[in-house]
Amino acid sequence: MAYPRVILKKGKERPILRGHPWIFSGAVARVEGDLSSGEVGEIYSAGGQFLGLGYFNPRSQILLRILTREREEVSPGFFEARMTHAGALRKRWLEGKAFACRLINAEGDFLPGLIVDRYGEILVLQCLTAGMERWKALLVDLLVRVFHPVSIYERSDVPARIEEGLSDVTGLLHGMDVPDRVEIEEDGCLFHVDVKRGQKTGFYLDQRENRASLKDLSKGKKVLDCFSYTGAFSIHAGLGGAREILLVDSSGEALAKAEEHFELNRLESLPHRSIRGDAFEVMRNLGEEFDMVILDPPPFAKKKSHLSTAARGYKDLNLQAFRLLRKEGLLLTFSCSHHMGLDLFQKIVFSAAVDAGRRVQIISRRGHPIDHPIHLSHPEGEYLKGLICRVL
Ligand code: SAH
Repeated sequence: MAYPRVILKKGKERPILRGHPWIFSGAVARVEGDLSSGEVGEIYSAGGQFLGLGYFNPRSQILLRILTREREEVSPGFFEARMTHAGALRKRWLEGKAFACRLINAEGDFLPGLIVDRYGEILVLQCLTAGMERWKALLVDLLVRVFHPVSIYERSDVPARIEEGLSDVTGLLHGMDVPDRVEIEEDGCLFHVDVKRGQKTGFYLDQRENRASLKDLSKGKKVLDCFSYTGAFSIHAGLGGAREILLVDSSGEALAKAEEHFELNRLESLPHRSIRGDAFEVMRNLGEEFDMVILDPPPFAKKKSHLSTAARGYKDLNLQAFRLLRKEGLLLTFSCSHHMGLDLFQKIVFSAAVDAGRRVQIISRRGHPIDHPIHLSHPEGEYLKGLICRVL
């Protein structure tokens, strides 16, 4: 099947030849034929070299997202094969180990713009682009065929859709109605996930492996869990033997869920309390010390231009954390701003330690779990980075 042709400007094929999956509007010389939003085009260099097939969105800065480098038909079989590959990775590494995980990680699983999270037998789908939106009905059929879920629920309510000219869509796409609380197990901890209304698709699955590391670190510790959301880090710490926990989040709803999670995990008698408020301010006013501080803030740099403001935010937070830590205390500090690389983040944490007058060791560098694979040619997909530090 022949698709309309998109011809790049001279030299603009270079990143594409190196595997990058995005073509920005400034790289395109012309489109030959009719190509409307979400449709597939054949991509050529100025010299006429075939570069691959991608789907188009004239409204987006990212004019094309590459689906394949082969001359092939973008057929149901094409999507099914990609889904099967994504499923095989999780089956190989996570079967019997992770009840909830990310099944399809967009560009990282070579399905740009598509996210699918699994909560047991329920799948939650997010279409981030006009291309994936067009194929949604087909994608749902294929997900049923490949993964046999009981339900598929849509949570396409993300700000990224605005840039694609799409509005928010949520609701049941397949199967049985989804309960308001979906119970999941994560490394021996139980959680109630609200896939219909919770943040992201209900749970921060990307922190699963980092949370698991708490089990060995939290015995006997007094823990401060900042940006706690529904308390997932706290529950891991509690079951790991923490002696006291303070949770801080700006969302009262999230903190109420966290309280439910303490009960669900039979931790109601573990001394714990929560403060609803701005973590920056709360930390500044805390007059007590901790053995462990967790900082898992939302992304401060959503755009590259926000990087210096974001850096100040991370510096302030980490400075407060170092101030609150006892000798031998641990800091688990994260950034999910994809514009901030690990090197820069580490420099910021370093300068916070210097200003706090603390001597600090890095004992572990952290990142994405295996169900959030990153396309090697698409560093933009790598957003989560973290450090575990020991204060001497
Ligand atoms: N650690 C959590 C995920 C944290 S997501 C987990 O493992 O599940 C970031 C959280 O920060 C959200 O719950 C959001 O409500 C909260 N938040 C955003 N801005 C905040 C602020 N200024 N102060 C405190 N909490 C904030």
